[in-house]
Amino acid sequence: MTAGPVPPVAVVSGGGTGIGRATAAALTADGMDVVIVGRRADVLRATADEVNGGRAAGSGELSWARADVSDPAELAEAVEIIRQRHPVVDVVVNNAGGSVPAGTDLRELAASWMESYRKNVVTAVPLTSALLPMVRRPGGRVIIVGSRVAITGGASPPYVAAKAALNGWVLSLARQLGPEGITANVVAPGYTADTELLTGRMPAERHQRIVAGIGALYADEICFRSKLRPDRPGGSLTAPEVAALARAIRGVLGEAVRSRGSSLRDLRYRDLEGGLGSYQGRHAVYDRAGEPCLGCGDQVVRVKIGARSAFCCEGCQS
Ligand SMILES: [Zn+2]
Repeated sequence: MTAGPVPPVAVVSGGGTGIGRATAAALTADGMDVVIVGRRADVLRATADEVNGGRAAGSGELSWARADVSDPAELAEAVEIIRQRHPVVDVVVNNAGGSVPAGTDLRELAASWMESYRKNVVTAVPLTSALLPMVRRPGGRVIIVGSRVAITGGASPPYVAAKAALNGWVLSLARQLGPEGITANVVAPGYTADTELLTGRMPAERHQRIVAGIGALYADEICFRSKLRPDRPGGSLTAPEVAALARAIRGVLGEAVRSRGSSLRDLRYRDLEGGLGSYQGRHAVYDRAGEPCLGCGDQVVRVKIGARSAFCCEGCQS
């Protein structure tokens, strides 16, 4: 027998796509065994195959159970499958949810509000309730994926109100489960691109207003200051690295603004008053391939990222 320690177990609803899928993949990479639950078997199977196919050593395994978690009979069946696979569950991530088209006449209005409540509340509540007897005590974690719109309002009132209901529910849940050593929390994502919720619904101008590009020049300088290679995948960043990146973005952009920008060799860039910027004199890596790194003296190199190139120091950035 070579059985090692049993990995912790997470169940993620709506785990086939979007935030649920990203969560499931991240937990698997962290070494947890993850069961994704969702309505579409083909989507769940494809996600499991893809995540398991790219597993690194030390990763957990991703499996799936099909159910519409708002349907009591389907949910009971899926929970039984999960129980046979994993008698103890460490983490429950209630991610299933979605928006519904708004109604116009009174009948449609009532139907859309009921449907939104079913999709966003009568998914998390039954799943959590069904799994609760199996959740580890002490140490279990219940996570509910809410939304920023629950406190800011948004374009779809039935969705906003249903997500706000989760904020109320979690307070009761935390009080109920706290004495048993289980925590309950809502995480409230803001705009998240590449989810089914928003695909095709976010106009390009609005995306541009919310997610601003930084530009290649300053991106290179920011990566150098935060000691990160410009080709590091976003998902591989640790929490301290994300914090360093955020500091570097504010630092570099702030200094560049105070220096009135960077006027490169072509002198095309002028500030609003027609003057030249002076930040180009402080570039640490941008357009300095072959020159010594200001940090370690090694040569700055040009690396290819897709169609564009970036400048970095391989000694200082990882
Ligand atoms: Zn260096």
